[in-house]
Amino acid sequence: MMRWLGLPARPRLTEEQYAAFLDERAPLRSRMLKAAVVCVLLFYLCCFLLDLWLLGDVTLLSATLRFGVILPIAVGLYVYIDGDYPIEKKEIAAILVALFANICWCIILVSSSSPGVLTYFYAAASFQMAITIAAASPFRPALRASVFTFCLNYSAIWFLEGATPAYVIQHLVVYIPTVVMTLLVSYQIEVEAMSSHLQMQENEALKRELSRQNKDLARLSVTDPLTRLSNRRGTEMELMRLMTEVPAEGRYAVLLVADVDHFKAYNDAYGHGAGDDCLKRVARAMRRSLPIEAHLARHGGEEFVVILAGGSSDLASTLAESLRRAVRQLGIAHDFTGDRNGFVTISVGAVCGMIQADGDFERLLEKADRALYSAKADGRNTWRVYVDEDAARVVA
Ligand code: GH3
Ligand code: MG
Ligand code: MG
Repeated sequence: MMRWLGLPARPRLTEEQYAAFLDERAPLRSRMLKAAVVCVLLFYLCCFLLDLWLLGDVTLLSATLRFGVILPIAVGLYVYIDGDYPIEKKEIAAILVALFANICWCIILVSSSSPGVLTYFYAAASFQMAITIAAASPFRPALRASVFTFCLNYSAIWFLEGATPAYVIQHLVVYIPTVVMTLLVSYQIEVEAMSSHLQMQENEALKRELSRQNKDLARLSVTDPLTRLSNRRGTEMELMRLMTEVPAEGRYAVLLVADVDHFKAYNDAYGHGAGDDCLKRVARAMRRSLPIEAHLARHGGEEFVVILAGGSSDLASTLAESLRRAVRQLGIAHDFTGDRNGFVTISVGAVCGMIQADGDFERLLEKADRALYSAKADGRNTWRVYVDEDAARVVA
């Protein structure tokens, strides 16, 4: 932050940031303004006693201006500040009322021929402070109002009974430090408020970025980088969701295990890169063939699992067949299968059962694996549904 005479520079805010800064501070400024109006008004009314004591010859004028004019105006101002108006307007209203009260006070003092006016006029500095507090932030209106009050008081001072240039100079010696110090405080308040606002905005932005990165990380941790399908961790989370969030009747699920046939031979013949491409295409085809609510994950190597809650054995065979057909229809040539299939195919093992406690999934997976082996043993490019004593059906 740049420094001029040791003063911190005002942080540079864009128009948008400045508007947000003012918006954020509006409720606090409104509350402070109400408190300031009450305090300054009480002080202003109490000064009637000073008028009685120090002046004496302008009692009626003082009572009329203080209680007949300023009091009702200040009450009106309080009601206005309490209302639902923009804070800038409230502050301008407060400054105008303070300036008007300052004018009335000058009229009282100028009208008096008591020698006490000269001492009493030092209280002009209190108007200065009241106005700077009323416009505590932003700083610029406070500065303008201060200059105006300064001009007003130093115009009135010449009309005081017994005022001389030497008196005016003495008065300035007291007044100027008051003006400078109150303005400095007002400036400091604004700089600090702006800096903390910027800091808070930066923190918010950092928090948002962190939460975005966390979400990305969470998504990546459940995604298989090659096929973009869910990975094993994703399957674990799906199982957790099934066991905790899905109603009991929905926990009867279809579980499929799909394995690419003769994939080692494919890799050996066409290369690892071609093998990767093949896996990606197989994964995409399977994803497209399944209902959106089915969970499809790469379980490892060239093996995939499907979990669909609320299924039946009919649904299991339908899903298994659509998976098998989708992969076969890709028409990826595979001349090294060593059997009648000249294309990349999959074999599928399916099972249905409840997934509602730890270990259920593993038990079902074992059964699905047995069905898968049976499909492999029966020539591949086919599926089997596990029906307890390994009863099996073959399609295709
Ligand atoms: P089967 O029909 O009995 O399933 O025979 P298979 O050759 O498919 O089965 P096997 O388990 O012998 O071989 C699986 C192969 O899958 C071996 C491995 O090199 C390959 N594989 C596993 N993961 C990947 C991968 O991410 N990319 C590639 N290109 N190959 C992989
Ligand atoms: Mg295989
Ligand atoms: Mg395998």
